Amino acid sequence: MAKFSSGNRIPLKNGTAVVKNKLGEGGQGNVYLAEMNGCEYALKWYHTNSLKNPAKFYDNLINNIEQGSPSPVFIWPKDVTEIIDGEFGYIMDLIPSEYKCFSDFLLTREKFPSVRSVVNAALNITNGFRELHRRGFSYQDLNDGNFFIEPQSGAVLICDTDNVAPYGESLGIAGKARYMAPEVVRNLKAPDVMTDRFSLAVILFRLLFLDHPLEGKRTLCPCLTEELEQKFYGKIPLFIYDKQENSNRPVRGVHCNVIKLWDLFPGFIREKFSCVFSQECLHGQKPRPSDNEWQIAFTRLRDCIVKCPCGGDTFVDLNEDVSFCINCEGKIPRPPVLISKKYAAALFPGNNIYRCHIDVDSDDYLHKVGEVIRSRNRPDVWGLRNTSGYDWKVTLKDGTESILQNGRVQIIAVAKSIDFGGCVGLIAM
Ligand SMILES: [Zn+2]
Repeated sequence: MAKFSSGNRIPLKNGTAVVKNKLGEGGQGNVYLAEMNGCEYALKWYHTNSLKNPAKFYDNLINNIEQGSPSPVFIWPKDVTEIIDGEFGYIMDLIPSEYKCFSDFLLTREKFPSVRSVVNAALNITNGFRELHRRGFSYQDLNDGNFFIEPQSGAVLICDTDNVAPYGESLGIAGKARYMAPEVVRNLKAPDVMTDRFSLAVILFRLLFLDHPLEGKRTLCPCLTEELEQKFYGKIPLFIYDKQENSNRPVRGVHCNVIKLWDLFPGFIREKFSCVFSQECLHGQKPRPSDNEWQIAFTRLRDCIVKCPCGGDTFVDLNEDVSFCINCEGKIPRPPVLISKKYAAALFPGNNIYRCHIDVDSDDYLHKVGEVIRSRNRPDVWGLRNTSGYDWKVTLKDGTESILQNGRVQIIAVAKSIDFGGCVGLIAM
């Protein structure tokens, strides 16, 4: 096992990295701080005996670098080293210090300031995996150690992408217990896109509810043996909120987070988890919800977040006249709603609308096209500012039509519909 010290020069396929110091040590290898072309990077160097098939692993790394990263959320290999005495490594970006490891959120060492940040993180994770799968890759080893999240914005970085491989390719990595699909735990299948979907659902569940979807009354035991692990996560897994079977419900005093948080989220989100962890989906009799379905669900979830007068962010039910704040239980009347083909978005001051709301062919939840503002002189008057870069056609309640230029604001209360250019959004009060 090669050990590098400061100043060692490591030949790369396309240049040279100079080692500065060791950052960490893991089961698979060591990570060093290295310099290349005046910039700092992380250099991961493998213990080759930790790899089942080092030659295949090396070729896969080169292939991933050639293919390029599917999304900016991935800390993707940048360059691979030459093979030195049968060993090798690769160069990647460093994770900025404001990003915190997802495991620390689960241990409540780190906290999200609001549900908006949590939902943004869920959207960013889901979208990263959607892009990964669309490019024909599967991740194979999803677990809470792979994710780094900036708590305020919910921005996400996903690391350990060296195990990512094209569909059907197996690098001999089974994944981490508790995150593996039951069919992988039982050794019936190698990791693939469908098993990634299970792991993603576990990550999303834990992001929202902090506890584990399969760990309830039935799984409480003094010592988790290999046999029990096979049983709880492989042979007879049971969702804690299974609709038919209640023998694995969360236990007071043990699974406190999920007991507190489960009912705070809207029904359509709970329904998605009930589906992905249903017996049919757990046992592969029904396809698991796709990344795209999750992305639509979390976009919808973000659309119903508003700020309560108590200062906290909360969800409103856009079909009900009144909702109750998840922080203070105060009554919140339904705000005006922009109804477009796929989505319904609360037009509440501070909220934005995005490309996906005004373009039926788009699912872009990041590109902002409008913002809801409050009048400075009359705080009860709310307006929608067009920031899309082009004009919108507004029809008022009295039937008159007008053009809303980019940068201008329309008072929401008097508007009936907006033609965004091909897609018309109705404003429901
Ligand atoms: Zn409140």
